[in-house]
Amino acid sequence: MSHDGSLFPFSPRSRELQARVAAFVRERIVPAEPGFAAHAADPATRWSIPPVLEALKAEAKAQGLWNLFLPESAGGLSNLDYAPVAEAMGRSLVAPEVFNCNAPDTGNMEVLMHFATPHQQAPWLPRLLAGEIRSGFAMTEPDVASSDATNIAMPIVREGDEYVINGRKWWTTGAADPRCAILIVMGVTEPDAPAHQRQSMVLVPMDTPGVRIARPLTVFGYDDAPSGHVELAFENVRVPVSNRLGEPGSGFAIAQARLGPGRIHHCMRLIGLAQRALEAMVERARTRVAFGRPLGGHGMAQEAIARSRCEIEQARLLTLQAAAALDARGNKGAKDLIGMIKIVAPSMACRVIDRAIQLHGGGGLSQDHFLAQAYAGARSLRLADGPDEVHLAALARSMLKA
Ligand SMILES: Cc1cc2nc3c(=O)[nH]c(=O)nc-3n(C[C@H](O)[C@H](O)[C@H](O)COP(=O)(O)OP(=O)(O)OC[C@H]3O[C@@H](n4cnc5c(N)ncnc54)[C@H](O)[C@@H]3O)c2cc1C
Repeated sequence: MSHDGSLFPFSPRSRELQARVAAFVRERIVPAEPGFAAHAADPATRWSIPPVLEALKAEAKAQGLWNLFLPESAGGLSNLDYAPVAEAMGRSLVAPEVFNCNAPDTGNMEVLMHFATPHQQAPWLPRLLAGEIRSGFAMTEPDVASSDATNIAMPIVREGDEYVINGRKWWTTGAADPRCAILIVMGVTEPDAPAHQRQSMVLVPMDTPGVRIARPLTVFGYDDAPSGHVELAFENVRVPVSNRLGEPGSGFAIAQARLGPGRIHHCMRLIGLAQRALEAMVERARTRVAFGRPLGGHGMAQEAIARSRCEIEQARLLTLQAAAALDARGNKGAKDLIGMIKIVAPSMACRVIDRAIQLHGGGGLSQDHFLAQAYAGARSLRLADGPDEVHLAALARSMLKA
């Protein structure tokens, strides 16, 4: 992280954690990445949990580098203080889970903390906070434009004291993970209500009869095993009505509340990923020789490096600004800035990683570097948590209204 914190004063605790998390990522996680890749490349092991992951989790937990995404009131950090810590985690695609700070579990834990009763929390929240189980968030559906959450159509029909769920979800991240125990599922419980009050969220244990993984999905060929992004079939799935979170019809509001801090967390991590790509680009430009000089001696490579540094720093400052606004003014007050960084960060990361791939030549597209998978991850975030266009439209509407 090149920003020195003078514009955005980080607390001493944040500064200490930034250094410790960065060192853990550098010294313990990055060296383990080839082991993760080998595990994922072996058809015999790829849908199982790599033992090294649980070992690293135990190590991080023992060092107190655990659940740092939590708000200050729950022992975590302010959004501003968390931003550079998340950036440090974002340098490695496998790091966030090591610190129990990975999507979708963090957002799901926040939903359980804010909207679940103690009775609903008891079987799931402590085990999620301990990193023993994982969770999925099943909102997007294959048959409707799900970027407009009011379109979510899966019927959740009340029969006595039970809800009966039938339909399909897809892109449910993490649901293929053998440790995934609980899904938060959004569907229509109040079909006759106004558009924003039709859906509810219900807790559906993964082992409920009728819940079936229809297929894993791929992003540019990456299936992100063993957690995956899957299409789920719900066939006469029955859960007690007491599994509904909040009031009937509150699903849209819960979805909005869930996505605010989560969107920023993704952006923080993307900045770390782009920063690592830039460092790889610089190293490559120093050492690879073409047409009689190092790549870094060619003007076009210099431009790629310089532009990347400018763009990363712009996005970093905007992310910190959004995080500070979230702390000062809450989700609603920071809405425009959260939208701005959600528009800016994934595209920035795509551009920087793409330049790094280009400078690495054919190798940049291969499994020998982290860049190709990093690009797939960054590109996904121009869609996940809402496509760019939806955030652009919301930002413009907000300005036109003002
Ligand atoms: C890797 C990955 C992980 C994901 N994880 C999850 C998850 O865990 N849980 C979950 O529920 N979902 C998840 N998603 C789904 C993601 O949130 C949706 O794909 C996204 O919200 C878009 O919905 P859609 O795919 O139905 O696209 P649609 O709603 O069909 O939109 C398609 C396109 O239409 C255009 N568009 C839409 N609205 C506008 C507008 N107002 N103005 C102009 N153009 C517009 C945009 O170009 C948009 O990309 C994930 C997606 C990916 C790729």
